[in-house]
Amino acid sequence: MPRVKKIEKKDEKKPRKKMTPIQTVRGMKDVLPPEQTLWDHVINESRKMCQNFGFGKIETPVVEFSDLFERGVGELTDIVEKEMFVFETRGEEKVALRPEGTAGIVRSYIENGMSKWSQPVKLYYEGPMFRYDRPQTGRYRQFHQFGFEVFGDPCPAVDAQIIYLAWKICQKIGLKNITIQINSIGCKECRSSYKNVLTDYYEMKINKLCTDCKRRLLKNPLRLLDCKEEKCMQVASSAPQIIDSLCTGCHDHFKNVLEFLDELELPYVLNSSLVRGLDYYTKTVFEVWASDLENGARQLSLGGGGRYDNLVQSLGGEPTPAVGYSFGIERVVEQLVNAKINIDMRMKKDVFLVQLGDKARKKILRLFDNLIDANISVGESVGRGSIKSQLRIANRYSSKLALIIGQKEALDNTVIIRDMESGMQEVVTLEDAVEEVKRRLS
Ligand code: AMP
Repeated sequence: MPRVKKIEKKDEKKPRKKMTPIQTVRGMKDVLPPEQTLWDHVINESRKMCQNFGFGKIETPVVEFSDLFERGVGELTDIVEKEMFVFETRGEEKVALRPEGTAGIVRSYIENGMSKWSQPVKLYYEGPMFRYDRPQTGRYRQFHQFGFEVFGDPCPAVDAQIIYLAWKICQKIGLKNITIQINSIGCKECRSSYKNVLTDYYEMKINKLCTDCKRRLLKNPLRLLDCKEEKCMQVASSAPQIIDSLCTGCHDHFKNVLEFLDELELPYVLNSSLVRGLDYYTKTVFEVWASDLENGARQLSLGGGGRYDNLVQSLGGEPTPAVGYSFGIERVVEQLVNAKINIDMRMKKDVFLVQLGDKARKKILRLFDNLIDANISVGESVGRGSIKSQLRIANRYSSKLALIIGQKEALDNTVIIRDMESGMQEVVTLEDAVEEVKRRLS
């Protein structure tokens, strides 16, 4: 029997297999242009403020030896115990993606001999941090912090100055409904006697604690104070307060910090449960909290910091007092979004260029270049044809001036300058346009 060759009909093509799109890794996110303008706002205002306060910028690598964080942040902290992204390089070095910024900066302070620089050394930084935490609103596995540190000055005025800078940045950024929560966790000596008092108290209440706290009690009883479980919070509310165990030195230091804050008229709240989750802190600890309106006015930590007088020495440097603060950029941006910060501020352009026809479009491109060179922010929509629609966009960008080149102006080498608020228009030559714009903007 002759073999029958199966003929595929042309229109019976196999359906093409659809590729599964690749998504971001869990707990990590993209920041797209509309949100990016808010990021720029937050970062630019923070940078400006740090520079005004005399801080210099530092950048340290995202990858450090994992030892640095084990010794710096503390082996018994949640961050080191459960949240670090640790891996081995091809050269068999055990490294980690940094979970926070301070330890790397201390490493750099020691490695680069900054103790020989004129003290205090004031540094600020920004960049991604990584924690393998359970992702939820405001908590990511890759997030960004902006922070600043002062090395070499034990004076309580410096603690107050760091808190003041944190507060000023919040004001400048436009954050509302925020408070400064502050506490002192003493030095090694007074903290260890407080730990005993606290352990005795919690041992009597052990049945009322969550499983995590029962485990933590043996290793780090201070952490029980900031457990967010309802039943643990109740036990914590009657716990002995560290303030009653502070030695004279730590007590006076804290009193001085508060006096400086009073002098600066900063609204702070004494919070005896605030202990911070990192082992390196001594004496002053503080956080900036916002009322999280999205979640029934729950208090949300936007940033935190404090003094860490032993960290430089414990990482191999000379004994060096230090104090610092960092805030989470995602959380701050989310606060601004929830508070519906004026959208115009995000997209503001000083000048908007409007054109009609191809000839005008060419002139506009040259004018665009001249304005940018003069450091003027410029918006345009060269793809659009109608003047009306371009002026609408100019309004959206809150532009003060629109520069219009129609067919006539393109032939005459002139430009119409329109004041967007009053609607008044004036014709100037293309040559004079940039100077006239500068004059009107100043
Ligand atoms: P910490 O020193 O751990 O208190 O972190 C300081 C600030 O960084 C916090 O107040 C948050 O704003 C931010 N932050 C910490 N962990 C995360 C995270 N997993 N996702 C987003 N932001 C975070």
